[in-house]
Amino acid sequence: MTAPARRMTPQRAEILAELRAAHDHPTAADLYERLRPRLPRLSLGTVYRNLDLLVAAGLAAKLTAAGAEARYDGRPAPHDHARCRACGAVADVPALPEPDLPRLPDGFAVEVRHLEYVGLCATCRRRVGAHAAPAAGLAPGA
Ligand SMILES: [Zn+2]
Ligand SMILES: [Zn+2]
Repeated sequence: MTAPARRMTPQRAEILAELRAAHDHPTAADLYERLRPRLPRLSLGTVYRNLDLLVAAGLAAKLTAAGAEARYDGRPAPHDHARCRACGAVADVPALPEPDLPRLPDGFAVEVRHLEYVGLCATCRRRVGAHAAPAAGLAPGA
């Protein structure tokens, strides 16, 4: 069996470079819009297909949330995310240095640990006013 994900086509290399340069966890459509001026023959389907291959090859991560379009992450170092539930913006958060693990099912071997903080970003908090106080016990430093 060959490993097609390891053959890096020029288009796939461009998609990966654009994803690595982005800091906003773009959707496939975002990447398509950004790449189209340089790659006029690119199609959105090609972007989706190549992103899937990059994820399968471990070169990118796919961030999914219920009701939101998938976003992609090309940052290789382990890190966590803060996701705004209103606008969908996803920001990087440094991973905790030595995270405590919760009680896991017997025999469960952890391979990936990815923590997501869900809330409202500063822009959306300004938009909704003061209603969105952090939940008790979840305020920073609490
Ligand atoms: Zn927001
Ligand atoms: Zn990230």
